This record gives sequence, C-alpha cells and structure tokens, in this order.
Amino acid sequence: MKEQIFLLIELQKITFEMDKLTAGRVDLPQEINRIGEKLESIERELAEDEQRVEMLRADHKVKETALKNGIENAKKAKGRLLEVKTNKEYEAILKEIDAIHEKNSAVEDEIIHILEQIDGAGERLNVKESETAGHRSTCENEMRKMEEELNSIGSELEKVLKRRDEVRSRTKTSLLKKFDMIKGRKNGRAVVPVWKAVCYGCHMNIPPQMYNELQRHDKLMLCPHCERIIYWEDRNADV
Ligand SMILES: [Zn+2]
Repeated sequence: MKEQIFLLIELQKITFEMDKLTAGRVDLPQEINRIGEKLESIERELAEDEQRVEMLRADHKVKETALKNGIENAKKAKGRLLEVKTNKEYEAILKEIDAIHEKNSAVEDEIIHILEQIDGAGERLNVKESETAGHRSTCENEMRKMEEELNSIGSELEKVLKRRDEVRSRTKTSLLKKFDMIKGRKNGRAVVPVWKAVCYGCHMNIPPQMYNELQRHDKLMLCPHCERIIYWEDRNADV
C-alpha cells in the first residue's frame, strides 16, 4: 500500500506540473503580445517625433527658398528704379521694395523661430532615441525568453505525459478512479500532506488516532473535513 500511496503523491505532482505547463501555453502568448504592443506604441511615439522634426526641416527649406526669392525680387525692383521715367513710377517702385523688405524680414524671423524649434526638438529626439533603444532591448529580451519557454512547453508536456502514463500504469485502477474523482471535485488537488495532524488541503486538524494510523502508510485515508487523499509527510526531514 505504501508504494501505491507514493504513486498517488507522484501523480499529484505530475498534475501540478501539467497544469502549470498548460497555463503557460495560454499566459505566455498573451504576455508576449502585451509586451509587443507596448514596444510598438513606444516605437510609434518615436516615429511621430522624428516626423515632427522632418516637417520642421521641410518647412525651413520652404522658408529659405521664399527668402531667396524675396531677395531676388528686391534686387529686380531696384534694377527697375534705373529705368523709370516719372516720379510717380519711382515712388511706386520704392513702395514695392519696402513691402518686399518687410516680407523678407518676417520670413527671416520665421526661419529663426523654426531653427530654434528644430534645435529643441532635435535634442528631445536624441534623448528619446536612446530611451527607446533601452526599452527595445529590454522588451525584445523578455519576449525572446518567453518564446523560448513557450517553445519548450510542447516537449516538456510530452515528457510529463509519459511519466504520468508510466505512473498510472503502476497504480491500481480503484485508486486511480478515486484520485480522478477527488481531483475533479477539488480543483485538481486530490492528494495533500498532513503534518503535525494538520491537513494541508483544508488546514484543519485530523483526529489523533487517525494521525497515528496515517504515519504507518498502510492504508488509503481521506481527510474527514475536505475528503482529499492524505498522507503523512515528515516536514522536519525537508529542513
Ligand atoms: Zn483536509
């Protein structure tokens, strides 16, 4: 009987291992997805910041061209001054030149403002780029580890199933039936240790007489409170 009880204890351990592996199959892909999404949003933010700097640079280019044209226009207008015949025409062109200068100086102010913005945004972008690189490598490492774990679950599960079949083949059918029934009723936990007369399934005390009997390992016993299969475990031996 003692051997049979130990087989049931082993079967319980195998059940826990299987549950853990099965849970990993569900949890790990979710966790990998969650980290992947987090990384994506960080990368997206960086791309948006990069785009903003690019837009400022493009704007700067447009303004520089406008200023160049403005300067050219002023030059042309000045050239026309030499060809005018009337005072009125002369004054009209002077007015035009003033207007062009005014516009050019406004564009110059805009260019200075844009350059300041490019400087500030560029600095922030540098900081963000190095931060993102840090996040990226952390996330990628985490995901790689989880993927390796996930990939190994299949072979781990195969090994555990093989051990389970081997243990079950050595266990009496009547005991297996009892084990399966209690396991189904007690949320996967059919076999629990008892130490110092306390059942580790329900944390209640079992009667002294029963505790004495239990230590002999010579018959299958159930906890009178939670009705799980109990066995005596010398917890001092573990320490
Ligand atoms: Zn109990």
